[in-house]
Amino acid sequence: SGATILVTGGAGYIGSHACKILAQAGYTPVAVDNLSTGWRDAVQFGPFEQADLLDRAALDDIFARHEPAAVMHFAAMSDVGQSVREPGLYWRVNVGGSLNLVEAAVAAGCPHMVFSSTCAIYGDQDGIMLDENSLQHPINAYGASKRAVEAMLANFGAAHGLETVIFRYFNVAGASPDLDVGEHHRPETHLIPLMLDAIDGRRPALTINGDDYDTPDGTCVRDYVHVMDLVEAHLRGLRWLQDGRGSRVFNLGTGKGFSVRQVVDYSAIVTNRQVPVTTGPRREGDAAALVSGSARAEIELGWRPERSTLEQMIADAWAWHQNGDFAQ
Ligand code: UDP
Repeated sequence: SGATILVTGGAGYIGSHACKILAQAGYTPVAVDNLSTGWRDAVQFGPFEQADLLDRAALDDIFARHEPAAVMHFAAMSDVGQSVREPGLYWRVNVGGSLNLVEAAVAAGCPHMVFSSTCAIYGDQDGIMLDENSLQHPINAYGASKRAVEAMLANFGAAHGLETVIFRYFNVAGASPDLDVGEHHRPETHLIPLMLDAIDGRRPALTINGDDYDTPDGTCVRDYVHVMDLVEAHLRGLRWLQDGRGSRVFNLGTGKGFSVRQVVDYSAIVTNRQVPVTTGPRREGDAAALVSGSARAEIELGWRPERSTLEQMIADAWAWHQNGDFAQ
């Protein structure tokens, strides 16, 4: 440890938590972010480099000055609904940006990358319990763009020896219990922060995106993972690479799905408040259910999603929402 790690998207939700856990583990996290959706106030654990992944010269300069031992690559557009309406943005930023980053890493001789992929690469599969070998059939440009980057990383690994740990995230939620960093997007599109806004009156109501899916209560089912557990997996993924164990893909889920309505009901209990809710149309590109086991991450990385109960995730998100949020 002590090594420098470039963290793209380090001013964003997951990236800022990754910088925190890296700093705690003795690494120097360098946050690289264009602040298009991130927050300058979220960069608290190491140096900041404001740069866009589409700017190759800026990336070369950052690699030359910091000589990172590895990259954690979080920076991406991640709004499923927007990706259906504006696929160009997702292919340009997520795929084009990743290509620049990967080429810059190879040119600089940086050997290791940890990459944020997504359960959206699996698409809609009748609610089966997914694993790393499940069929890939993305139903939105977000999932398609991440799948393309996974293929890119495999090609660069074969040609140039770049070793990568790919994490396919299910739904990330919660916040650092220290209330220094947390979840806030602008515009906000994610379920739990939107619901907390509805609970405290910052928004009139939460709109449920369709209640006619083929699920137990008709609303979409997702597998929620606490952001602190998620970044713990990244630390283990980094050590895996540094220990010479080579490229590997891991799903990060808990094996337990919750419907949008169940998330609403838990939130009312955890916050002891009413949740104003209305029902709207389906959101384009939504899969009915996305749930994964985590056997591979548990066995090979020794990872346990310890903080990932729905109650704990909502409680931590609510504490951040009330007391920490740098955007309030
Ligand atoms: N969702 C909803 N209302 C909202 C925001 C999200 O019903 O205002 C639903 C969304 O359609 C999906 C689930 O909540 O089924 C989780 O959505 P989110 O955007 O948080 O994460 P995603 O699954 O898209 O990564």
